[in-house]
Amino acid sequence: MSMQWALPVLKEIDEELARLGLKSCAVCESDTALGVDMRPVVLSVGGACWADRGPMNDDETNISYLVRVECSLCGNTLLFNSERFITGATPALKPGPLGPAA
Ligand SMILES: [Zn+2]
Repeated sequence: MSMQWALPVLKEIDEELARLGLKSCAVCESDTALGVDMRPVVLSVGGACWADRGPMNDDETNISYLVRVECSLCGNTLLFNSERFITGATPALKPGPLGPAA
């Protein structure tokens, strides 16, 4: 099942990135082309925590949910740790639309 950021959380992320000063792309300097992806990047840190037993499995691995910001002009992509933005009790993620990702 796909996941996406809940709309209030996406708004919170957008506002926090603006407050931190992310106003334009560092590569092409466009001030209109940066956009937050509705979908999180799921990163396994320290190994493959989804693997059952095997050489890649490690109980110390962890999953991080990252916010992906991409410039639609040049493709420059930034990743942010979602734990820095999401502080409320609202569930951060919700099921995404069914079917393959667009
Ligand atoms: Zn750019």
